[in-house]
Amino acid sequence: MMSTPDVDVVVVGLGAMGSNTLMQLARRQVKVLGIEQFEPGHSRGASHGETRIIRTAYAEGAAYVPLAQRAWQLWRELENLSGERLLEKTGGLVIGPTGSAPVLAPITSATAHHLPYELFDHDQMRKRYPQHRLDKQSAAFYEADAGVLRPEKAVRAAIRVAESSGAQVLTGTEVTEIIPDPERPRVRIGHKEIVARHVVVAAGAWLTRLTPAAMSTVKVVRRVFGWFESDHPADYTIERFPVFIRADATDTHVWYGIPSVDGSPVKVAIHFWPGLDEPVDPTAGARPPDNHDADLIAEIVEQTLPGLRPRPVKLQSCMYSLTPDQHFLVGSRADLPGLTVLGGFSGHGFKFSTAIGEIAADLATQGKTSWEIAFLDPERFA
Ligand SMILES: Cc1cc2nc3c(=O)[nH]c(=O)nc-3n(C[C@H](O)[C@H](O)[C@H](O)COP(=O)(O)OP(=O)(O)OC[C@H]3O[C@@H](n4cnc5c(N)ncnc54)[C@H](O)[C@@H]3O)c2cc1C
Repeated sequence: MMSTPDVDVVVVGLGAMGSNTLMQLARRQVKVLGIEQFEPGHSRGASHGETRIIRTAYAEGAAYVPLAQRAWQLWRELENLSGERLLEKTGGLVIGPTGSAPVLAPITSATAHHLPYELFDHDQMRKRYPQHRLDKQSAAFYEADAGVLRPEKAVRAAIRVAESSGAQVLTGTEVTEIIPDPERPRVRIGHKEIVARHVVVAAGAWLTRLTPAAMSTVKVVRRVFGWFESDHPADYTIERFPVFIRADATDTHVWYGIPSVDGSPVKVAIHFWPGLDEPVDPTAGARPPDNHDADLIAEIVEQTLPGLRPRPVKLQSCMYSLTPDQHFLVGSRADLPGLTVLGGFSGHGFKFSTAIGEIAADLATQGKTSWEIAFLDPERFA
């Protein structure tokens, strides 16, 4: 005899991806339960730090552009549903050596999807964005459709909307095991087992423990970000200082910055840097920032953003879940029947979390989605 399900869908983990999945399912009248081991908006995973960049002409691949465009629409919808301001449009720059891969990549995506953009050479940058120090060989790609999201507020807002649409939520509750099954997957919390028709696993870095087979190729590594003050704060507001990503010609040294938002100073962080991928055990969490972290970011700021004071006023650490090709894992696996996996967001997933929530709701209820996500297949490394 097959056991009666307690709910239609369980969503494990209520960070960026889980909170949006929960909301999408609840708004479709699906009986859904979300389980989070900490409190929504906590700072131990990957969805904290006050701000996240959203872009559209996606350097990481033209296939992301439709998802980014859908995500923008859904961010505005979440703002309307929750009454919270979550997104500020600032425009965005990608800065690098003229003709280098980092500057060409967003042009490829913009061209493929007919997106408007501008290219600035060194002299134009000096006039328009003198906050950046560039050498003569550097250039910048600019798109207006880029901006800043407020991650903690966004996660809490999605959960609130989900609850008001009928979702049940358990916080401070750890899922200790997920038992895959094509008809009745189950989730264990303490001695209790919850039977569902489908389970969405959105456990961030902890996916490596909950579904080790799916995540065997994923590396969880530490990253640090810092906030920097200026003697001229008016030059770094969302109106005057677009979000930016900056890279060297080989695209191996990559860092980014976010204007002053909600009274916090400018945020600068390293995305990729040789030798920086320190492995993290998610149970222990990412080690707190130290002087070495402060010195490295301070040096970048001193060399490239002369109007900022180079010593950070605050630093924080977080976890990246990196896949080998840095594309996400979204979908099912033959060895995990009854489950949808959302993981491996490789340090660039937040902006898409509204769209990923919609896709996960499709997969959980229909087993398919009309969105083109074959390139995110969790089995592609098998
Ligand atoms: C420093 C930093 C900067 C970034 N900058 C950007 C950016 O500018 N733009 C962008 O688009 N992306 C950015 N990213 C990436 C983006 O933030 C992440 O891809 C995204 O937040 C991942 O969301 P998630 O839901 O997968 O993980 P998380 O937010 O970590 O959520 C997973 C949740 O699952 C819960 N959980 C885990 N295990 C269990 C369990 N057993 N039981 C119950 N609950 C559990 C955790 O507590 C957690 O709340 C950045 C990431 C970092 C770390």
